[in-house]
Amino acid sequence: MNASIAPSRPLIDRYGRQISYLRISVTDRCDFRCVYCMAEEMTFLPKKEVLSFEEIEAIAEAFIARGTTKIRLTGGEPLVRRDIMDLVRSLGSHIGEGLEELTLTTNGSQLAKYAEDLKAAGVERINVSLDTLDEQRFREITRRGRIGDVFQGIDAALASGLKLKINMVAMRGVNDDEIGAMMAWAHGKGMGLTLIEGMPLGEVGLDRVDSYLPLRELHDQLKQRYTLTRLDKRTGGPARYVHVAETDGILGFITPMSHNFCESCNRVRLTATGQLFLCLGQEDQVSLRDALRDGGLEGLEAAMDQAMLIKPKGHDFVIDRARPEPALGRHMSVTGG
Ligand code: SAM
Ligand code: SF4
Repeated sequence: MNASIAPSRPLIDRYGRQISYLRISVTDRCDFRCVYCMAEEMTFLPKKEVLSFEEIEAIAEAFIARGTTKIRLTGGEPLVRRDIMDLVRSLGSHIGEGLEELTLTTNGSQLAKYAEDLKAAGVERINVSLDTLDEQRFREITRRGRIGDVFQGIDAALASGLKLKINMVAMRGVNDDEIGAMMAWAHGKGMGLTLIEGMPLGEVGLDRVDSYLPLRELHDQLKQRYTLTRLDKRTGGPARYVHVAETDGILGFITPMSHNFCESCNRVRLTATGQLFLCLGQEDQVSLRDALRDGGLEGLEAAMDQAMLIKPKGHDFVIDRARPEPALGRHMSVTGG
């Protein structure tokens, strides 16, 4: 199938939104325990509950046949799943055959090992999450990561010809004093920097109310010091981009707490156990694992159609003192962001 040929039965929800972007969490496990993402002590899924690569491939192929053009692998940490490159290579073989882009979001700890293989498998761009440039602070945020591994991974990825974007969760009183430095560093290496607002998912180690930093406020502060020009680049998600004249690079703002992107939402999320979440901020879901295991490819197709009937219109995130508990009990590592 040529990438420009429309699928015969596109996946369209009740609000007329066409699904073209599938995020796949390949594992809930991670070698870090970032304070905003996980609790110190996490119980991970038994391996037998996790989808096999064959099952992930079957689901991904069904989505590609129905109009998915972009797949992002995430987690947990996607690069800690055993033999992950087998999956990357097999999904990469669909690039140019309906799939336009295969990408991943990683904490960078294993990138030095995999960067060249990722590029060879057809991956062109990746997102690396990094919230600070300071070694000690990095250890506090990730609870166990070594920043040197991430720097090495980033350099290896750039040397392999991958395009990189750095994702930084902006937290008041934690790393909001480093935004200028992160921008200078990332833009200096030809990488984009995207700031993310903390989202209330799961019980974690951080006070979400104290650390919540609305990006609108940050944008207004940055405007005093930098020349920001709004770019038209749209992703169907909650990201907005500006060009920063002083550092000649792109700065993104992911504001999931705002609602102004839901009407253009083009994405769904598959968890490591095969639950298809229809919205990051809601519980609506369909088990594609059960559908596939019980009903084969026909069952899978029927479950994908069913999913289109229940995709919610938008999310209900709020962070305030009156409602300090997380909006959703599940951690970000379940759906992969
Ligand atoms: N382990 C990989 C990584 O860290 O890039 C992929 C999975 S991680 C869950 C995906 C993204 O979600 C990361 O950029 C991380 O910073 C972000 N994230 C995790 N928990 C979050 C939260 N509660 N609010 C906002 N972003 C969060
Ligand atoms: Fe792991 Fe990524 Fe969550 Fe950090 S944000 S704990 S690296 S899954």
